[in-house]
Amino acid sequence: MWMRVATVFSRGLAGLEAPLVRVEAHVGGGLPQFRIVGLPDTEVKEARDRVRAALDTSRFQFPDGRVTVNLAPADLPKESGRFDLPIAIGILAASQQVPDRELASLEFAGELGLAGELRPIRGALAMTFGAHRDGRAFVVPEAAAAEAALAPGARVLAARSLLEVCGHLTGTAPLSPYRCEAKPLERVHSDLSDVRGQQHARRALEIAAAGGHSMLMVGPPGTGKTMLATRLAAILPPMTSDEALEAAAVQSLASGAFDPSRFGERAVRSPHHTASAAALVGGSSPPRPGEISLAHHGVLFLDELPQFSRHVLEVLREPLESGRICISRAARQAEFPARFQLVAAMNPCPCGYLGHFSGKCRCSPDIVLGYRRRISGPLLDRIDLHVDVPALSPTQLQAAARGESSQYVAGRVKAAREIQLVRQGMANARLDAGECEGACAAEAPVRDLLGQAAARLSFSARAYFRVLRVARTIADLAGSARVREVHVAEALGYRGGAGT
Ligand SMILES: [Zn+2]
Repeated sequence: MWMRVATVFSRGLAGLEAPLVRVEAHVGGGLPQFRIVGLPDTEVKEARDRVRAALDTSRFQFPDGRVTVNLAPADLPKESGRFDLPIAIGILAASQQVPDRELASLEFAGELGLAGELRPIRGALAMTFGAHRDGRAFVVPEAAAAEAALAPGARVLAARSLLEVCGHLTGTAPLSPYRCEAKPLERVHSDLSDVRGQQHARRALEIAAAGGHSMLMVGPPGTGKTMLATRLAAILPPMTSDEALEAAAVQSLASGAFDPSRFGERAVRSPHHTASAAALVGGSSPPRPGEISLAHHGVLFLDELPQFSRHVLEVLREPLESGRICISRAARQAEFPARFQLVAAMNPCPCGYLGHFSGKCRCSPDIVLGYRRRISGPLLDRIDLHVDVPALSPTQLQAAARGESSQYVAGRVKAAREIQLVRQGMANARLDAGECEGACAAEAPVRDLLGQAAARLSFSARAYFRVLRVARTIADLAGSARVREVHVAEALGYRGGAGT
């Protein structure tokens, strides 16, 4: 009895990791049988059907005897679709319909359509990193190639069908390495100059951008809260190439969330308040990144904050501090990065018009308090800047000058952020208490001012350092090496009410 074996390399996905998967195909004599070992039972039948159909329609012969395919290691979370191509190649190599001489230097991933066409896969970028690290070229469906080719230095071979991959292996029609031709599109960003008036909120937005601070805007509907929030990404400092790759790799784990032409752009995610905790922080089986991870190195905008369920808001606390989220369900765990900048907005009261010049709010103080208490103190305590965005009367609006345009603000933000990176290697928002004291180099009168304010307003320790971090950013925008009284005084103005 004869038996032939071929080994083909592929990749699984576990969080942002893409561990190596060996696909071993055995073809032997005996009664016809096709087994796949190492995939969840529920997915085996579909994988078998797709592979068999693709071999048939591509005019290959499905081997007559016993065909066994083993995916190892067996305990990795696997989604079967991506292994169609390596399984098919393994069977073809083991049955000597394609040569196996190149298999050791290649990795494969792709779902097969019934006619042998290759369908896109998610996570192509993370998998390409892994293949490149192990010194192999990566064969992917053409639709995933632009994304895979973002991995620096990686060799990516793009194919449209099983036949094209086989043409490469036989040498009749070698695939040439994929070159990314996507040029960054000129995008028309909405500009900060569209926001009329609201000097105080614009200033807060600039501070938030410069120091990476989270921010809460409180004001009636129609005052520009959403306009301001959606313009934050455009004034943030440019991403480093590592940040851009990391953000792209996370987005590519969620099907359809990543567009290679947007590489290097900071994401703005704005989930609706009906979003579930799983949608927000990530779901399981298989683990997928949630909105907070899709906003990694970008902006997470939560409009109508009190409308989010309390549970959803509480799960934000951990990633707000650590920049990561660990999702565990049953036996599996996955960790995703989630260093997002939180921008939240809310109405001042349930009807939205408390303090509005129209005077139409009839909400009682109790109702207003109850509404604000929907957001817990500990969450509010983690938001650095609290800012009122009042309604402007038509006359005030008309008198308001057109705001400064985003490019000037972005210039100041970039300069201030560079000062922080040189001084401490990170944005001010990430300084812990000890680092914050050191970075602020505040002299006695400044510390006295802050200490008095803290005593008078009974700050928590967390609130104290929040004010100090914001003051550090204000000083950086002013180009001041030391934090001075004027910076602390301004920072105290963004302290907000509840929770401090
Ligand atoms: Zn009201």
